[in-house]
Amino acid sequence: MDDDVFLVRFWGVRGSISVSGPEFSRYGGNTICIEMRCGKHTLLFDAGSGIRPAGWALRASGVNDFDLLFTHCHYDHIIGLPSFAPIYDRSVKVTLWSGHLAGRMTTRQMVDEFMRPPWFPVKMDVCKASLDCRDFVSGDVLRPREGVVVRTGSLFHPGGCIGYRVEWGGRVVAVITDTEHEPDKLDQAVLDLIEDADLVIYDCTYTEEEMERRRGNGHSTWQQGVKLCEAAGARGLALIHHDPTRTDEELDEIEKLAKDRFAGAFAARDGQTLKFPVSLHKKR
Ligand SMILES: [Zn+2]
Ligand SMILES: [Zn+2]
Repeated sequence: MDDDVFLVRFWGVRGSISVSGPEFSRYGGNTICIEMRCGKHTLLFDAGSGIRPAGWALRASGVNDFDLLFTHCHYDHIIGLPSFAPIYDRSVKVTLWSGHLAGRMTTRQMVDEFMRPPWFPVKMDVCKASLDCRDFVSGDVLRPREGVVVRTGSLFHPGGCIGYRVEWGGRVVAVITDTEHEPDKLDQAVLDLIEDADLVIYDCTYTEEEMERRRGNGHSTWQQGVKLCEAAGARGLALIHHDPTRTDEELDEIEKLAKDRFAGAFAARDGQTLKFPVSLHKKR
């Protein structure tokens, strides 16, 4: 793996529930999972169904020590965890992080609660990997690996959700998977996380036209993503958390409209990889 590249790979870009069928084949149907490689360090964000192929790829590339950070634990962000092969491998070490339930449930409790009968045939203790569960509070600055800084903030979403800002090698990538915006207002917490970012991965579940009847669902629009990126001086905007009804053709159309408004915008697809060259001598 390149030591001087900040790599982002989308393993799952669908929101709410996974989908399959020819009309979804190009953008993909897996729910949220994003991989970041900061040189030799690997971070995964969320364990939606996209984490299943991510697990195979990590194994194939010999990665056996990495971090998994949860934005929150709605099903579309955790459903893939029991099918994530590395957690059954005794040679693997995973550090799991969450902060959206701070004071209510630890990361360990969240995972135990999710993977147990009667919803799952066995308990977490079948996992042979070394699982190191860490808890944080929104606003904390995490340093999961040498040189990797992860800033955290609260998003506006039912039950809470954490936004992340990952800084490494002078590059910045922000993960804002699930958040609802107020009309004609820019969320300061989001602006802080995405300021001057090379890439903002943003909840574009709806369009502004759809938003009127979708208020309260906890999601946002590509139009809001563009406004936020422009205000924050961000350069790239990955539309993610696609509505499960959204077909490839509709996403093509949305991507075109978004690109016309903001040149760095694109609709993310399962399996898509972006590489940002870094200068390891430059400090932010
Ligand atoms: Zn979601
Ligand atoms: Zn959610």
